[in-house]
Amino acid sequence: MPLSTVVSLVMLQVVLPALFIAWLARARPTGRSLWLVQALGVGVFLAFVLAVGNAAWTSVYLSGALLIGHAAALVVSFRRTPALWWPIRPGKGLGPIVFIGTHLLLVLLFGPLCVLAFRGYAAPENPVPLVFPLRHGVYHVGQGGNHPLINYHNVSTTQRYALDVTRLNALGLRAAGLYPERLDRYAIFGDTLYSPCSGVVDTARSDLPDLTPPDRDRAHPPGNHVVLDCDGVTVYLAHLMQGSVRVATGDSVAAGTPLGRVGNSGNTTEPHLHLHAERDGAGVPITFGGRFLVRNSLVWSR
Ligand SMILES: [Zn+2]
Repeated sequence: MPLSTVVSLVMLQVVLPALFIAWLARARPTGRSLWLVQALGVGVFLAFVLAVGNAAWTSVYLSGALLIGHAAALVVSFRRTPALWWPIRPGKGLGPIVFIGTHLLLVLLFGPLCVLAFRGYAAPENPVPLVFPLRHGVYHVGQGGNHPLINYHNVSTTQRYALDVTRLNALGLRAAGLYPERLDRYAIFGDTLYSPCSGVVDTARSDLPDLTPPDRDRAHPPGNHVVLDCDGVTVYLAHLMQGSVRVATGDSVAAGTPLGRVGNSGNTTEPHLHLHAERDGAGVPITFGGRFLVRNSLVWSR
């Protein structure tokens, strides 16, 4: 990922929301209608950032801090606002127009995107229940859900409900650093992968190298992988560590059987687990303990 992308990500997920929250905290609205316009504008923008942004890049703790900061700013600015709905004097010159215009624009731009993203949170009918395949801490869903805004796989027929999973370190980040080259800086690298269902191994591959981010192997999209046939549902687990796969075609596995380790092989941007399920060549929704996971879902698993 180029530096410019990383910088814009930090701007969008951290700097801009913090600035809007600070503006809200310092505002002196001359009436409650103006307070409401600002509260809505900042709220909608924050909802967009928290739903569509990837919290594991800038720390899930920071996302929590932004939420708490927004709530505190709402209270502080409301208590400062005169107890009348329609201000007698909204302010001087262009000030009120810029103020109202900016916040209405935030609502109009990001409101519809929030609606689309949140629609992708609903679990489609008849999901396949699986067992979460990792057990080493707190996991974060980078791609997941039923809308392309929160899951880039969603446009694909077979991978429509695919998940990309990383693990969080003590700072609530998926890696030590923004986009490090060293694989062991990614918390999930080397994590033991357990079978998410009982079935038979259809395919297993383990000979491809673990790549240095941002290198990708586009000729072998899944990299080292295991494909399981679980009661008519085909489950794909991809981007595993070279030499780590310990099952072979034809092996029977129970849910919880160790299969290999998470790596960085194939067409991948960084160490993560890719998981999806298909039935008759079409992607099927999956749940873990009844949960339909979406972007920024957290899973505590030991
Ligand atoms: Zn994926």
